[in-house]
Amino acid sequence: MITLFKVVLNDLKILRYSWYCDKCSETTVTSDVGRGEYKAEDIWPTHTPTSKLCPECGNWASFISAHLVSFWTREDTQEELYKITDYPGACYHDKAGVRDPVTKEIRFGLDQQCLIVILPNNTKWLIDSRSSACSRRGDDRHRCWVRTGSIEEGTLTVTKSGNTCGGVSNYILADGVFYSLINNTLTEVNNHDDQVS
Ligand SMILES: [Zn+2]
Ligand SMILES: [Zn+2]
Repeated sequence: MITLFKVVLNDLKILRYSWYCDKCSETTVTSDVGRGEYKAEDIWPTHTPTSKLCPECGNWASFISAHLVSFWTREDTQEELYKITDYPGACYHDKAGVRDPVTKEIRFGLDQQCLIVILPNNTKWLIDSRSSACSRRGDDRHRCWVRTGSIEEGTLTVTKSGNTCGGVSNYILADGVFYSLINNTLTEVNNHDDQVS
């Protein structure tokens, strides 16, 4: 069982410079320059950043890149998370929506939210998108997974009640294991007879 937790994608990004140490060869030395909104000329510094000493071996490491890093904030602990798929149970509202794999249109849930849940196999469950097994592919009014409740109230649940299709169950498949989502909890489902293939 995995209990979901809410994360929020920050509008600000972190500008991060990386250096590479030839001697350690596997060590990338990174440094956060700051966070904010950046213009293109800020990304590549006008002066080559001074070399940096490798913390592993003390050798000079050479500058290789500057990049912008998105980060999420975990609401309950305020912890900053960088690669969100590393955190099964993370759940966020994608303001940009998700692309319908059939119609190619941007899609939201019927409540105009678009919830994403990170599964135990580090993939994203796009609850408001269309299942690959959808049996009503020309229909945009139904949802393959019917989402009720809310992550904030601990009641987020996925069912097959309401305007839905027949080609998919209320479970989500991750690496051969089915999971249900009831009241913010992902639970492994061993008996999934009502799974329609
Ligand atoms: Zn080194
Ligand atoms: Zn469907």
